[in-house]
Amino acid sequence: MNDERGFSRWFSGGIMDGPTWLDDDRHRSARRFARRVYIPRVIGLATGFFCVASVLVVQPVSGWWWLLLVANGFIWPHLAWQIADRARDPAWAERRNLMLDSCMGGMWIAVMGLNALPSALIVAMMCMNNIGCGGVKLFAGGLAMIVLSCLLTLGITQMPLNLETMPSQVWICLPMLIIYPVYYGLVSYKTAIKLAEHKRRLMHLSTRDGMTGVYNRRHWEHLLHGEYDNCQRYQRQATLLLIDIDHFKSINDTFGHDVGDEAIMAITEHLQLILRATDVIGRFGGDEFGVIMSGTPLDNAVQAMTRVCEHLDGFRLPCAPQVVLQISVGVAEFDKRMVNYRGWLKAADVALYKAKNAGRGRIEAAA
Ligand code: GH3
Ligand code: MG
Repeated sequence: MNDERGFSRWFSGGIMDGPTWLDDDRHRSARRFARRVYIPRVIGLATGFFCVASVLVVQPVSGWWWLLLVANGFIWPHLAWQIADRARDPAWAERRNLMLDSCMGGMWIAVMGLNALPSALIVAMMCMNNIGCGGVKLFAGGLAMIVLSCLLTLGITQMPLNLETMPSQVWICLPMLIIYPVYYGLVSYKTAIKLAEHKRRLMHLSTRDGMTGVYNRRHWEHLLHGEYDNCQRYQRQATLLLIDIDHFKSINDTFGHDVGDEAIMAITEHLQLILRATDVIGRFGGDEFGVIMSGTPLDNAVQAMTRVCEHLDGFRLPCAPQVVLQISVGVAEFDKRMVNYRGWLKAADVALYKAKNAGRGRIEAAA
């Protein structure tokens, strides 16, 4: 439940001219939050009903309290869900529902004459729920509500104190003591799993190029930075390659952007299939790629790239067999005199420029 924390803050934050897709998304997330509170509330209040009932059966209270107890235990959870689900701001409505839960909890503690075990259980479960749903703020607010409504009910009803819990009441409290925390733990676990999955997906989105799936420039440069540091520190070998498709603009202009995109995908697939899995491929720009070959000397890197060029020679795009795919490659081996990773990149870029100037379709090494 923790992932939904702070919804009301988001909601009250931006005042916009009209509903946006972001509002829609937040509204849906807020409804999911309300939905996630629903089942724990059904379980908590149903088991709580028996705890309170175990005390009320042995002390004379008016029938109205019983009616209220049944309504609170079995009708309110469904009503609360309906209210939150239909609200303009479900997150805010759900927080208000949680505050009402705390109020009612405090009231039942007073009606039970502060009977020790059921009262402690109500406070513990409500606090656990509130802190899980809204952090310390909701926890503190809920606790204040419990205390206030308990004192108020005691003041109004003049209920006699009845602190001692009978053995039979202990047994009746056991379902709440066991079922609710176990269920709550399960919900928290599922939420943690979902969060980890979201994090993984976000990580993927933020590090990959949307079209080809290889690393995007920002992340690839970050990896290059790391490789540079490793090479400097441990005197390791590594080679950097910058690859650019030749006359790519004319492919786009003659055959259209779709064919251009296919060409980019084809180059990516060739790099992925022919190079080693440990080689780090990134899309550096429009038709430009970068490859980091860790632990590889320049000659081996050139050999590997020659294989890629040979495969490309015989390859034709299924959607446009007339297109001849050709690349120019600039290669720069790590040199400890390079002041930073940008210097390394610059060396490969100069080599690529040399390859372009020398007629394209070739591999040039940095001087
Ligand atoms: P050169 O041989 O000198 O590299 O010439 P070039 O025509 O390939 O020139 P350049 O590398 O500068 O061309 C890059 C072009 O790639 C410019 C841009 O329109 C195109 N481009 C960039 N991103 C994409 C993309 O995602 N899809 C397609 N189809 N084209 C792209
Ligand atoms: Mg190009």
